[in-house]
Amino acid sequence: MPRHRNVKIVATLGPASQDYDAIRALHEAGADVFRLNMSHGSHDSIREKHGIIRRIEAELGSPICILADLQGPKLRVGVFAKGEEELAEGARFRLDLDEAEGDSARVCLPHPEIFAALEPGATLLVNDGKIRLRVTECGDDFAECDVMVGGVISNRKGVNVPDVELPLAALSEKDREDLEFACELGVDWLALSFVQRARDVTEARELAGGRAAILSKIEKPSAVSRFAAILEASDGVMVARGDLGVELPVQNVPPIQKRLVRACRAAAKPVIVATQMLESMIESPVPTRAEVSDVATAIYEGADAIMLSAESAAGSYPVEAVTTMDNVAREVEDDPTYREVIEASRRAARTTVADGIVAAAREIAETTDIKAICCFTESGTTALLTARERPRVPIVAMTSVLRTARRLVLSWGVNCVMTDELSRFKLAVINAARAARALGYATADDQIVVTAGVPFNMPGTTNILRVAPCQESLIYATEPG
Ligand code: PGA
Ligand code: MN
Repeated sequence: MPRHRNVKIVATLGPASQDYDAIRALHEAGADVFRLNMSHGSHDSIREKHGIIRRIEAELGSPICILADLQGPKLRVGVFAKGEEELAEGARFRLDLDEAEGDSARVCLPHPEIFAALEPGATLLVNDGKIRLRVTECGDDFAECDVMVGGVISNRKGVNVPDVELPLAALSEKDREDLEFACELGVDWLALSFVQRARDVTEARELAGGRAAILSKIEKPSAVSRFAAILEASDGVMVARGDLGVELPVQNVPPIQKRLVRACRAAAKPVIVATQMLESMIESPVPTRAEVSDVATAIYEGADAIMLSAESAAGSYPVEAVTTMDNVAREVEDDPTYREVIEASRRAARTTVADGIVAAAREIAETTDIKAICCFTESGTTALLTARERPRVPIVAMTSVLRTARRLVLSWGVNCVMTDELSRFKLAVINAARAARALGYATADDQIVVTAGVPFNMPGTTNILRVAPCQESLIYATEPG
């Protein structure tokens, strides 16, 4: 079932979407990628969701992408005797390592490394940035703070420390266990939370050992300032606007989103725009106009994917949220302005034969009535380069590697079709024509573009571009070899 849209939809699974019927309904409504959040839920519950997704994939016969999101070094306070306390502006509040229950004067922050890194003047943000504390005095096991902005603080609320580069490993003990668990289970992407430096990414890549692609969540100021190196080390990126908007002034988020999306597009690496896209749909069956506009903006920017968090994981209207994204995407992508914006923002540095071939494929599709670009790819690179061209016709990625097909589901405009390992180009053309027809992109009277690397068993050799008919007798009659 091709989607007839380019942008992909990522849906986070949770209590509102964990059984077979719910997950299948989300997929049918348009969710291409499922996100399993390792911060919540036991390994057993993750294993169960994973099994359901793979079952649906097998029933439908087309690849589904699974992204496991690692919690990363997320700081949290301990618990309070009364469960919560109200902090008043102007009051003093102490954070320390004492595990005793907290009160209105203090609470435990069980992260010794943080106290070592804090300095007077640093800002601590609690509960999604709602409470703002300023450090006045600190030592190895405490920080005395002034309450700059008050509010309710309750058990295990998250703490952000934007001004300080945290001397924390990107992967906690829990993350390492979760990473191994997710790789064993067989996920396609691993998302790393609170990445601060390229080394964080390479560390995860070594642990994953090729079993999953690595996606960096950009949600710290230090990740924004080191973005070029982080992008280079990553296979994909998430603009994690939730924590980003806490760690930085919220008005900084839109320009950062634009910059990150552009850089990822130029690097041919998929980028997800995430968080609060349809926030009001957690409780309402219809979105606000502003949310629709936000979703549309990400699509006009050419993002590979847009994401639902609590809307699909814990909200009352998960299917409606996916349907809303799908409707907005179709409308935007039908708008002639969309093509203009996408073409004007194409920035590909072309240095290789493959770069030239994918650009030529796109140009041919723009010049004549070509119905699809079918690319044979084992590593997925040629499909990523083709997607970077943001062509006006569908991209069909033909691969014999299931892992490649699943990973590519996240990428803009890519439809993945499994094919046998091929030895002859004529067979490749026949398979491509069949796939384009089966997907409903072409009829027997149409033409497609086929790209491939020949000989087939050598990776990184994209060297053929063929404009081919879709009718098999014509292929047999005209194709040499
Ligand atoms: P999270 O990441 O939902 O895991 O916090 C996304 C974000 O911060 O935007
Ligand atoms: Mn986050």
